[in-house]
Amino acid sequence: MRVLIVGAGVAGCALYRRLKPLGFTVDIIEKSSMLGSEGAAICLPANAMLALKKLGLSKPVLDLAYQVDQVEYALPSSKTLASASLHTAPLNKAPFVALKRDDLMSILRKDMAADVQLNSWPEDIKQDNNEVLVTFQSGETTSYDLVVAADGINSAVRQMVQVDSAPLSHKVTNWRYITKKPVAGIQPTYYVGNDSAFMIYPISEEEVYCYGQIIDEDGKFASLPSYKVIQDIFANYASPVSDCINNLTPEQPIVLGQLKTVKNTESLFNRVVLVGDALHGCPPSLQQGAGMSLEDINCLADALEQYELAEALKHYQQQRTARVTWTVKESNKIIKLAGLGRSPIGRFIRNTMIRLKGPANVVGWRKLLNEME
Ligand SMILES: Cc1cc2nc3c(=O)[nH]c(=O)nc-3n(C[C@H](O)[C@H](O)[C@H](O)COP(=O)(O)OP(=O)(O)OC[C@H]3O[C@@H](n4cnc5c(N)ncnc54)[C@H](O)[C@@H]3O)c2cc1C
Repeated sequence: MRVLIVGAGVAGCALYRRLKPLGFTVDIIEKSSMLGSEGAAICLPANAMLALKKLGLSKPVLDLAYQVDQVEYALPSSKTLASASLHTAPLNKAPFVALKRDDLMSILRKDMAADVQLNSWPEDIKQDNNEVLVTFQSGETTSYDLVVAADGINSAVRQMVQVDSAPLSHKVTNWRYITKKPVAGIQPTYYVGNDSAFMIYPISEEEVYCYGQIIDEDGKFASLPSYKVIQDIFANYASPVSDCINNLTPEQPIVLGQLKTVKNTESLFNRVVLVGDALHGCPPSLQQGAGMSLEDINCLADALEQYELAEALKHYQQQRTARVTWTVKESNKIIKLAGLGRSPIGRFIRNTMIRLKGPANVVGWRKLLNEME
């Protein structure tokens, strides 16, 4: 069987690792001219670690990652709204960790990076008699039995097979960077303000991963110098957030982005199948991007190993649809919950919900982990 994987991010590289040993002929292409990674660091909840275990990669990840014990939601004053231990069932099925994105991608790309064809992307895809004809930017056309779209939230492949499927914007601007740990022993903490939020997540004994966001209807914050605008927006946040923003300089590497979400979660278009963010790209409220992507590719690889192609694809679609659809909806809901903070009554409702139910992401993780055998 001839398979084309479009995109060499988390989903594409992990799928290549699973499909190669099955004896398929697998091409993996990447639009960029080099293999990089964007986004400072990445948090991996327990289901991501379980999926990495299936890939035989949990040990190398644990060796480079930092394991956390609890999650807290707090106000900008640092007053706690709710906290939850990650050592109770079902959260304790595997460790919750975080690590530098580069480290995760080096692990996923080990021994396969040279197989990625860089500077390559599909210009056109035609399907006929269970054959997928892909015309590349080079002008060359190749026939495949299966094309896997692993080309991220803005997936060009998705937009070739599904009309009107460009992602929607949440009108939320965000920044991500790594900085010195402000307080020894700090655990992941999410500070929720009026129209902004800030997360501090430890990634080692010395460093933390910071994520800040603000509602940005007209994109004005995205066009200003990141380090300055972060200091302005989060100026009224107490320590430890203030410790993470006061020392920012123009030289600090900061990843700027805007939150988007896919319009729907259809995964199968005859012999073109969607995985990763191409299928379920959404805000990182549940930090499920990598976990869901790795679950996708394990499910797809298991199905391809077990069934003939058409049945395998149907099985993949059946197995994944409900879980990824719920995850996208819930992630979008949490972003909206944060947005309630703009009015006093909204803040009251949001804070009461967090106090009563616990950290919103922990509530979501419990459901996702309960569903797993
Ligand atoms: C602000 C933010 C914070 C996040 N934090 C977390 C987190 O803490 N934990 C977590 O699990 N997830 C997080 N995520 C989500 C996570 O980053 C993604 O879910 C994950 O990277 C998806 O991997 P992917 O391989 O599907 O897509 P990507 O990582 O986007 O990879 C797609 C690849 O395809 C390539 N490509 C694009 N178009 C083409 C084309 N036409 N042809 C060929 N190649 C192409 C790209 O260059 C890229 O290499 C976050 C996302 C955001 C926006």
